Amino acid sequence: MADNCLFCKIIAGEIPGTFIYQDDRLVVLQDIAPQSPHHYLIIPRKHIRTTLDLAAEDNDLVGHVYQVAARLAEQHGFAEGGFRVVNNCNEGAGQTVWHLHFHLLGGRILTWPPG
Ligand code: 5GP
Ligand code: ZN
Repeated sequence: MADNCLFCKIIAGEIPGTFIYQDDRLVVLQDIAPQSPHHYLIIPRKHIRTTLDLAAEDNDLVGHVYQVAARLAEQHGFAEGGFRVVNNCNEGAGQTVWHLHFHLLGGRILTWPPG
């Protein structure tokens, strides 16, 4: 756990958060400011600052993130309609929380390219 990390604190239970899914490697939260009818944050339990800090040992973890994303989209009924898994890396891409996470967005038409 990293000092002063919002997501580490939520994972540790120091700050309230409701997990819609969790396992030994990750937790999933509803985003506090949803950008689509379904907007979940898939957050590895391991504190990794950005995508640039991923190591080869994290390869399985990232694959697991995508497996969980697909299953959640199916279970919540928005897989067929289309969904997106997004990781913002560094400020220029919109990263605001410095603990690796993946947005799972769905439930509406998602335009491309994003802004
Ligand atoms: P980023 O901008 O780093 O890609 O994504 C951070 C996300 O975390 C944002 O979509 C923001 O709305 C969400 N967020 C920030 N603070 C909290 C919080 O305390 N709880 C939850 N559930 N989401 C948060
Ligand atoms: Zn953290």
